[in-house]
Amino acid sequence: MAGITAARISEVIGAVPTGLFIGGDWTAGDGKVAVEDPSNGETLSEVADASPAQGMLALDAAVAAQKDWAATHPRVRGEILRRAFELLIARTEDFALLMTLEMGKPLAEARGEVVYGAEFFRWFSEEAVRIAGRYATAPSGGTRLLTMKQPVGPVFAITPWNFPLAMGTRKIGPALAAGCTVVIKPAELTPLTTLALASLLTEAGLPAGVVNVVTTSRAGALSEPIIRDPRLRKLTFTGSTPVGRKLIEQSAQQVLKVSMELGGNAPFVVFADANLDRAVDGAMLAKMRNIGEACTAANRFIVHESVAEEFSQRLAARMGAMVVGRGIDDGVQVGPLINDAAVEKVSELVADALDHGAKVLTGGDKVGDRGYFYAPTVLTGVPRTARMFSNEIFGPVAPITTFGSDDEGIALANDTEFGLVAYAFTESLTRALTVAERLETGMVGINQGIVSNPAAPFGGVKASGLGREGGNEGIEEYLETKYVGIAL
Ligand code: NAD
Repeated sequence: MAGITAARISEVIGAVPTGLFIGGDWTAGDGKVAVEDPSNGETLSEVADASPAQGMLALDAAVAAQKDWAATHPRVRGEILRRAFELLIARTEDFALLMTLEMGKPLAEARGEVVYGAEFFRWFSEEAVRIAGRYATAPSGGTRLLTMKQPVGPVFAITPWNFPLAMGTRKIGPALAAGCTVVIKPAELTPLTTLALASLLTEAGLPAGVVNVVTTSRAGALSEPIIRDPRLRKLTFTGSTPVGRKLIEQSAQQVLKVSMELGGNAPFVVFADANLDRAVDGAMLAKMRNIGEACTAANRFIVHESVAEEFSQRLAARMGAMVVGRGIDDGVQVGPLINDAAVEKVSELVADALDHGAKVLTGGDKVGDRGYFYAPTVLTGVPRTARMFSNEIFGPVAPITTFGSDDEGIALANDTEFGLVAYAFTESLTRALTVAERLETGMVGINQGIVSNPAAPFGGVKASGLGREGGNEGIEEYLETKYVGIAL
C-alpha cells in the first residue's frame, strides 16, 4: 500500500470524533453504526446512531442559536468561513485519506475534492459581506420600495455518500454566510468526513449550536419529524430522485422552502465535427471521475455515426488501461464502488444491455473477490430501450449509441425525465450555442467533461431538482426577500 501505513490510517481514523454534535457538545447515540472500507469490507470505525428524539435535540440547538447567528456581523461570519477554508486546505492530506477510506475514491481525486469542497467556504466567505437589498421609487411616485434580504432560518441538510466533503460544504457554506444555523445529516455510509468537518468548524471559531451533526441508521424516522416541525425553515437535500420526491411531499405540509439536488442521466453528445482528442479526454473525466459515482457522470454516450467507431475504440483503449484497486495505493485510478448493492445494480444493467444486443469493447465484469470493484467498461450498439439509458448507472460503464442529424442527437439527449447536466463536443460555435440552448438541463459542458465550479450555479431541471448551489445564486437559497412599502 505504498506510502500509506496502517499506523497512518489509525491516526487519521482515530482523530475523528464519533459522537453526535449537538449544541457544541459531542454526545452518544442510542446505538452505533459501523462504517466500512469499500475496498475490503472491513470496519473502519463506529459512529453514534442518533434516535429520532436526538434529531429533535439537534433541531432545538439550531433553533436556539439562530437569533444570535443571524445577528452576528457578516464580516465575522465570513471570517469564520475563511478560517475553515484555510484549515481544510492545510489538512488536505488528512481529509483526502479519510474520504478515500470511507468512500473508496483514489487519493488524487479525494485531494481534488478537498480543494473543491474548501472552495465553497472561501466563495461564501466572500458572499457573506455582499448580501444587499434595493431602494426604489414606485412608478406612480410617492411610495418608496425597500427590499431587504434576511436569513431564512434554521436549515436541515441531508447529504449523500459520493462526495462526503463537498456536498456538505456546498450547503453549510451558503447557510452560514446567509446567517442560518444548520442540522446536517450525512449519509450513513460516509459519516466520518462530516464529523471531522464539524470539529474543524469549531476550531475555526463557529459558536455552539450553529452547525449540528446527526449520524443515524434511521434516516427516514429521524428526518421526517424535523421536516414537519414548523421551526425548521429550509430543507436542502442532495441524493436520489425517489428520496427527494418523498421529502418534497413531507415538506408540503408546512410549505417548507426546499433545495433539491437529485439524480442525473447526463447525455454526452459527440458531433461529427468534434475534436476527438478533446472528446475522449472529456469522456474520461465525465465518465470516470469518482468511479462513475457522480450525479454529473456521463450516462449515455450519443455519438455521430461518422465518428462513432473511432471514438468508441479510443475510449475503450483508455478505459481498458485504467488501474483498478484500493484508492490509497499508488497509481490507482479506479477505486471500488460503494457497496455490494452498487456492484449488483451495475452488473444487472450491463446484463440487460447485453441481452438486448450490446457488445463489450472492454470490461463488462466485476474485479476480484474482495471489496466492491467493477471494471471500466465500454459497450457499443446499446439499444435505446436498454435500461441503462433511463437509469443512473452510477458506475464505470460507458454505453454508446449513434445518431445522424443534429435534431436526432438532441432529441435523444433530451429523452429522459432527468435534466442535470449535458456535455456536447463540436468545433462549431453556432452549433455549440444552438445545442446549449436546446438541451433541457440545468448545466451544459461544451468541449469539457466537467462543469462543477464553486463560482457557478450548480443544479438541475425536470426530475434532477430545484434550486442552485454555488455561484451568486447559491446564497439566495438561504435568504428570504422582504419588501417594505414606505409612504413619503
Ligand atoms: P440517497 O437518496 O439514497 O441518500 C441521500 C441521503 O438521503 C442520505 O443521507 C440518506 O441517508 C438520506 N435518506 C435516505 N432515505 C431517506 C428518507 N426517507 N428520509 C430522509 N433522508 C433519507 O442517495 P445516495 O445513494 O446517498 O446518493 C446517490 C444519489 O445522489 C444519486 O442519485 C446521485 O445522482 C445523487 N446526487 C446528486 C447530486 C446533485 O448535486 N444533483 C450530487 C451528488 C449525488
